Amino acid sequence: MKNFYRCLIITVVAVGTYIFGAFGAAVACMSSDTAKTTPLPVLMYHNITKKAALRSKYAVTAAEFESDLQYLQKNGYTSISVQQLTDYAYNGTPLPDRPVIITFDDGFESFYAYAYPLLEKYDCKAVVNVVGAYAKKYTELERQGNPDCHNLDYSYLNFDEIKKLADSGIAEIGCHTYDMHTLKGRRGCGKTSGESEEAYEKALSADIAAFRQASADCLDGDSLIFAYPYGIYSPQTPDILRKNGFIAVFDCTEKINRISRGDISYLFHLHRYNRPGGVSSESFFAKMN
Ligand SMILES: [Zn+2]
Repeated sequence: MKNFYRCLIITVVAVGTYIFGAFGAAVACMSSDTAKTTPLPVLMYHNITKKAALRSKYAVTAAEFESDLQYLQKNGYTSISVQQLTDYAYNGTPLPDRPVIITFDDGFESFYAYAYPLLEKYDCKAVVNVVGAYAKKYTELERQGNPDCHNLDYSYLNFDEIKKLADSGIAEIGCHTYDMHTLKGRRGCGKTSGESEEAYEKALSADIAAFRQASADCLDGDSLIFAYPYGIYSPQTPDILRKNGFIAVFDCTEKINRISRGDISYLFHLHRYNRPGGVSSESFFAKMN
């Protein structure tokens, strides 16, 4: 009988330890999700215009952009660079409270004319993801004296302007591919069906090399930031980008990033919210709460 009670006590203690251990682990897991990670919203803009009639899903007015910057300021956000983010992820360098990253895709010249002075005014930073072939075309048009090369409704940044932005300390230049910004044939920089993994890696690496060659004179070193055209990528793409030396990659999934020190996994899947024209700052930012 004594043995029976001894056995019962041991069983109760063992089961209790298991249950409380599991419960404790669950609590620890919950607290690491909520308390140890920092929310990081990333905003995605494209064209910027002074003409209300040109507002679209991919074009905001300069007034709407300024209103967004005022919203961020009023709500205690500080825009950070990708460099600050990677310093935080790899080295634990502290970030300001309520960090946010502002990005502009495609490299429209309107960024230089309208967004850049506003970023300076509000002491903000931005990442400008440039399509290499567009920048090259507008650099050539500028050299030819083509009067159409500065039409801010649709013109793209030339490499002289990109250099000024890169040197300003306000903008970081990202690669939005050299010449894969199209849905014809290959969709963006994704792998085509039937293409071998080797052929795909070769094609994407060649495009990246062309981007780096074209931008070599205006950037101080290779761009280490990449943004997927149309947000399209294949399972192999992040690894190919890593092999090509990129350290941060933006997609187009509308989701808040949750970042933490010592975790670098999110750097290759930085989610972003597209900012359309025609909606107030309050309703745009409400999506992120
Ligand atoms: Zn794009």
